[in-house]
Amino acid sequence: MPELPEVETTRRGLVPVMTGARLLRVEVRRSDLRFPLPLNFAQNLAGRRVLGLRRRAKYLLIDLDKAEVLLIHLGMSGSLRVLAEPPARPLTHDHVLFHLDSGACVAFHDPRRFGLMDLFSAAKEPRHKLLVHLGPEPLERGFSPAYLALKLAHKTAPIKTALMDQRIVVGVGNIYASESLFLAGLHPALPASRVMGHEKTLIAAIKKILRAAIISGGSTLRDYTQASGETGYFQHRFNVYGRLGEPCFHCGSMIQKITQAGRASFFCPACQPRKIPAKKS
Ligand SMILES: [Zn+2]
Repeated sequence: MPELPEVETTRRGLVPVMTGARLLRVEVRRSDLRFPLPLNFAQNLAGRRVLGLRRRAKYLLIDLDKAEVLLIHLGMSGSLRVLAEPPARPLTHDHVLFHLDSGACVAFHDPRRFGLMDLFSAAKEPRHKLLVHLGPEPLERGFSPAYLALKLAHKTAPIKTALMDQRIVVGVGNIYASESLFLAGLHPALPASRVMGHEKTLIAAIKKILRAAIISGGSTLRDYTQASGETGYFQHRFNVYGRLGEPCFHCGSMIQKITQAGRASFFCPACQPRKIPAKKS
């Protein structure tokens, strides 16, 4: 599933292709994504100029002329790929093709169709139902130890579940929550309030993991843009995620797995003891 680093990598890959370009034509091959596309979607986008591309959580926000915003979410299996020219035969799951005035084409591909798109006026963005409840961005200054301490103070939910709560911080999905907790030496099942005193370590771990993933994603996107094939996302080695029963790279203990809020959490029982370590910060 695309997480924040994949979306940020996608945004960075699209910036040079789409910024300043005009959408000559938008070809909708399937309009029933997670929600139906807005009414007259293709007609309303035809001829519009792209002013810039932003990311908020896992949403791509494409700023258009006439103060409108095109929102794209990749869902479970979505991707956007850049083609030097429109494909002679689009792939089966290429649901929307954005034909640019440069001759290039951006294809939205989504086999499971959990992705979504919306088009709205920039003035409505702060109140948009998908955006209004979002917490701070993990890589921005607002996600500070003081902020996190406030949010975790009375939370009895497990720390991993709390980190994946988009109202607390956006874009820390299942993989990166597991990896960040490993790096911080915190057991995923610790009650969030008991992590108090470790906010600084935890935030540093989250930022480090996400930054590394974005950097490694950059090379993936370059390959991907040329090959126009499957993404593969991150090739980098995870410390715990998906490594049940394999030895911890740090201490050799066997990686374990538990299920939390319906999601698999991986951890090292020695590096992430169930007993809270002494306060570090
Ligand atoms: Zn270990």
